Amino acid sequence: MSATEIDFYELLEVSRDADDRTIKSAYRKMAMKYHPDRNPGDAEAEAQFKACSAAYEVLKDPQKRAAYDRYGHAAFQQGGMGGGPGGFGQGDFGDIGDIFETIFGSAFGGGGAARQQPRRGADLRYDMEITLEEAFHGKTSQIEIEVSQTCDTCNGSGATPGTGTRGCNLCGGIGKVRAKQGFFVVERPCPNCHGRGEVIEDPCKACRGEGRVDMPQTIDVEIPPGVDTGTRIRLSGKGEAGPRGAPPGDLYIFVHVRQHSVYSREGTTLITRIPISFTTAALGDTLEIPDLGGESRSVKIPAGIQSGKQLRVRGGGMPVLQGRGRGDLVVEIAVETPTRLSKEQKELLEQFRATETGDECPESRGFFDRLKEAFGG
Ligand SMILES: [Zn+2]
Ligand SMILES: [Zn+2]
Repeated sequence: MSATEIDFYELLEVSRDADDRTIKSAYRKMAMKYHPDRNPGDAEAEAQFKACSAAYEVLKDPQKRAAYDRYGHAAFQQGGMGGGPGGFGQGDFGDIGDIFETIFGSAFGGGGAARQQPRRGADLRYDMEITLEEAFHGKTSQIEIEVSQTCDTCNGSGATPGTGTRGCNLCGGIGKVRAKQGFFVVERPCPNCHGRGEVIEDPCKACRGEGRVDMPQTIDVEIPPGVDTGTRIRLSGKGEAGPRGAPPGDLYIFVHVRQHSVYSREGTTLITRIPISFTTAALGDTLEIPDLGGESRSVKIPAGIQSGKQLRVRGGGMPVLQGRGRGDLVVEIAVETPTRLSKEQKELLEQFRATETGDECPESRGFFDRLKEAFGG
């Protein structure tokens, strides 16, 4: 009976002697990967999710697992096998009957259909923190990550060298099964052989039939000028190796730009706040400030500038990511009132105050005029 060939251990990608912890973590990995929330509208993922849940339901329970090891699926099939050995009622398995119906469906077959390509390896994420200067200039860096690589022993086939594969009994070597969904019969990749149509006879010991093993790897990462927090750099094919020789996934570098002590950033615009003395504010001046590229930028402070005024230096900002030119540098003026005056300076300011008529500061004069108008006197 072909239906008994489906293997719970293979579904969860664990060995037959795996302990509870291994089974649990394997199940969680699969559940995360195939969860319907993560794969909306993907019938194959949903079927895998259900199949893995069914496998876990059995393997997590020592009694059910023992029954499964002894009798295989016959232990849990409804009808035909007379309720199964070991005294398990149907109620013990939740909706397993349902799931099996979905997996085994009605008739198999539908010959001649192309076999499904093996799945590709998982994408990986690597978070990289860089300075604003590095974001400005771009950089090349090397990262060390643990990535699954094609197994050398079996060359990714997953089979012990010298042994081969045999046709999958569940799907008859076609790689697809038919299943009932509501009123419809749908065809989808065989969950036993993952659509390959064949299963490995003697799994490679080095990789447990996976065709890949985890290995530390050094990868060169090119960070282009202009990146910002949130920029993702994709390194095609640098993710996990695919199972049994399937194509690898991608590696994504997530960039985080550290805060700078002088410049803040909005897109390609750099912003800095510069405190100036009240004499500079009153008389005007030209300031030289270095931009991130190390270039000196002249900022002309017009006489009579007020606190909060923003001065724009064209092209003094960040480079445009994968484009040309640079954003602007914005200098925000903060007038600083002196707090440590010498005796002589105080006297000079007293003399200055004696000359004030009120016309020097039209804004405050206007304010006091309005105050007078409002309250009389
Ligand atoms: Zn191997
Ligand atoms: Zn199959």
